[in-house]
Formats: sequence, C-alpha cells, structure tokens
Amino acid sequence: MSVSLILLNDTLRLHDNPLLHAASGRKAAVVILNKAAFFGRQYGLARANLQRLQQQLALINELKAALASQQIGLITLFGNTVDCISQLTVQLQATALYCAEPVAADECRAIQQLAGQLKVIQLDCNSLLGDRLRPDLHDLPHSFTPFRKQREPLLAVSEPLTSLLNAADWLSPAATEPCNRVFAALLQQYQPLPQSAPVGESAALARLEYFIWQGRHILHYKDTRNQLLGSDYASFFSAYLAKGSISVRWLWQQIAAFETQVAANESTYWLKFELLWREFFRWQFRKHGARWFSKGAVKGDVDFTAPRLNCTQHAAFKRWCHGDTGVAFIDANMRLLNQSGLMSNRGRQNAASYLIHDLGIDWRLGAAYFEQRLLDYDCASNWGNWAYIAGTGNSGERQFNVQKQAQHYDPDGAFSRRMLQAAQP
Ligand SMILES: Cc1cc2nc3c(=O)[nH]c(=O)nc-3n(C[C@H](O)[C@H](O)[C@H](O)COP(=O)(O)OP(=O)(O)OC[C@H]3O[C@@H](n4cnc5c(N)ncnc54)[C@H](O)[C@@H]3O)c2cc1C
Repeated sequence: MSVSLILLNDTLRLHDNPLLHAASGRKAAVVILNKAAFFGRQYGLARANLQRLQQQLALINELKAALASQQIGLITLFGNTVDCISQLTVQLQATALYCAEPVAADECRAIQQLAGQLKVIQLDCNSLLGDRLRPDLHDLPHSFTPFRKQREPLLAVSEPLTSLLNAADWLSPAATEPCNRVFAALLQQYQPLPQSAPVGESAALARLEYFIWQGRHILHYKDTRNQLLGSDYASFFSAYLAKGSISVRWLWQQIAAFETQVAANESTYWLKFELLWREFFRWQFRKHGARWFSKGAVKGDVDFTAPRLNCTQHAAFKRWCHGDTGVAFIDANMRLLNQSGLMSNRGRQNAASYLIHDLGIDWRLGAAYFEQRLLDYDCASNWGNWAYIAGTGNSGERQFNVQKQAQHYDPDGAFSRRMLQAAQP
C-alpha cells in the first residue's frame, strides 16, 4: 500500500492543522531538524545558538509525545530536507508528500526539488489568508497599508479543523521508532530545555486562553505594547506562531470571538493589526524569494556578496552584539536578547536602527545575529523588519533617535539600569 509522507516542520501542532487531515490512505508523520538552519553559519555567525536548538528539540519531542498518546508515530530526521525525504521515499515507498507551504526561499527551493520524485501537495497552514484567500503575487501591493486595506475585509477565517485522527491510517510509534536513532542521539547530546520552559502547543493554547480570555490583557494591548520588559504587556504569541505551535487562523478567530462576546476596542483591533504585519511579510517573502538576502533586499541591484566590515566596524559590531556599546538603552535591550532570547518590538526597532544608521553596519549582519538568538525567529518577520528599518524593504528607511526613544520609553531609566546591573558580576 502506498504511503503519504506528512511533513510537520513549522506546523508543530495537532489543533487546526490541515496537514493531519489532508491525505487519504496510509500516512507517515515526519519532522526534519534542518541541519543547515541549526548548525550552519552565515556571514561568519552561527545560524542558531544552543538555546534555539534546545527549544526546537523540545518542541519536536512534545509533538512526538502528543501524537504517541493517539497511537500515531512520528519519524524524526536530521539533515537537509531533500536528502531526508528522498531516502524516506525509497525506504517507505512513499508516493506523496504533504507539507506546509514554506515562506523562506531555501525551503521553497527544497520542496520544488522534491516535486521530481513524488507528488508534492503544499497547504498554506500558517497564514491568515491561506489557500482560500491567496493573493495573486503579481498584484500584491508593495507596501503594508494598501495590502491591509485590500485583504483585511476578506478575513472571515474558517472554522478550525478539530475532527479526531484515525490512528489506523498512520504508521504507529513502534513502526516509526527505528527511523529515530539519529534524532535520539541528538536529544541525548543537547538535552532539550526542561519542562519549566514550555514551548509547544499546550503552552501556546494556555497563553491564548490567559492573555485573551482570563487575564483580558488584550483590552489594554495598544497602551502597553511598547513596554520593554514584563510578561503581559504584549501577547508573547510570536514564538508559538513562528514554530506553528498555534494556528494563526484560530488565534484570529479567538480575538474576533472575544470582540463579539466580551468587548471590542482599539486594543483588540490592534492585535489583529499586528498579525496583519506578520501576514504582509509572509506574502512579500513568497513574492521576492531570495532577493530579501541581497544587500539592497527588494530594492536596487541584486548583490549577495557577504557584508564587509573594516576593523573599527568589526569591533563596533562585536560591542553591539554583547550589549557593550556604551548607549545604555541599546545595551540593555541587547543584553535582554542575549539572556532570554527575546526582546520587545520597541527594543528591536531601536537596536536595529542603531546598528544600521548610527554604526553604519550592513543590516544583514544584524538580521543574522537576531536569527541566531531569537526564540521567536521567523524568517519573513525578522529579515523583513530589518530591511524595513534599513530602507531596503517596502518603504523608505526608518531611523530612530535612540536618546529620544530612551527618554520616552524608559523615562526613569529603570529598564536600562535593571538590565545593566543584572549583567554585572
Ligand atoms: C528588527 C526586528 C526583528 C524582528 N524579528 C522578528 C522575528 O524573528 N520573529 C517575529 O515573530 N517577529 C519579529 N519581529 C516583530 C516583532 O518585534 C515581534 O513579533 C514581537 O515583538 C513579538 O512579541 P509578541 O508576540 O508579544 O508581539 P505582539 O505585540 O503581541 O504582536 C502579536 C503578533 O503580531 C505579530 N507582529 C507584531 N509586530 C510585528 C512586526 N513588526 N512584524 C511582523 N509581525 C509582527 C507577531 O506574530 C506577534 O506575535 C521583529 C521586529 C523587528 C523590528
């Protein structure tokens, strides 16, 4: 009997996951830990630090346990997508691959390559618009506001997929375990984050419940979202969205349900507004592909030569990375990133602006450093926002006056003092 491979990379959830309901017949659930993304380097920097690797291992482990509780196995592989899927295709005599339609150019290329070997069906699992409301990339508005005005009115997001999975359709845990030896060794070696730092689907759904329904923090989101430190000033949905631990369409529906059942105000709308920024960058990445990694991104000539730094810039870049520039507001934000793997949106904007416009350093180095560190790293949101601030994206450049920003957002310097003191021995 032919087998369909269901690749769950970037869709690490059971709830509202179209991939789990897509194919008929015999199915094998698969996740690949992409070697280049977690062990590769770009511009001399590691693409992921240990914390990001451990987070990914923990997420995959959690999905494996969730599937196992329904008697469904998960094949966990390590390597590059094309090689892993090619080998598995032969091993299982697979005839079809179902996967989430990627956004990053290298992932799109890998999926296209596989189309020569087996039938490939891509579903848009992690966008608001999805396959049903897919825009024509040729007519995609170039900047955010026209995109939002054009697409937002269409967003009547469909009901989530909740039907039960039939274990008999899937390869069982016992059948998939022999494929998991390499991954098991990785788990041993790199010890995923302890359970005290939950990262997967159950934590994502609990966060949604808390931020929107129980805590009702959504009602004040627009007033608090520019804060720099804390646990409820913003939604903290980004890491879950980046990994696909939560469905963005379910999230949108829940905000809409809250607006109907409890209250709608500027803040509830603003959370949707920010989700539209995420959406905007996703479609821009699908449109322009690898161009986003060119020095001028979507503007000017294509130039993929690596950023070059003179000695002074090299030293300045290192100081920026370590949070040691001497500008307290920047250093505090960078130290927060280095310690926690996260930074507020306000902090990210300022840290990026400072590197690009004050230090005169190629924006791609900053984006690469954020990629290495951010636990919510998302290719389109990260590189898109960096390009936006550099002025190489879909608008003119955005330069922040860091001193003024510090006075406005950290008026008594409490945030900066706290972060800088915390770093002292
Ligand atoms: C230089 C720079 C790099 C960034 N890198 C990333 C990244 O790698 N991954 C990432 O998810 N976001 C990135 N962002 C966007 C934004 O800073 C984070 O999404 C946000 O801080 C995450 O916290 P939150 O979930 O509490 O956001 P909230 O303020 O609660 O927003 C809700 C959701 O809206 C989306 N969102 C909010 N702001 C933006 C934005 N500017 N662009 C795109 N989506 C947005 C996110 O999915 C977020 O989870 C970056 C921004 C900048 C300026």
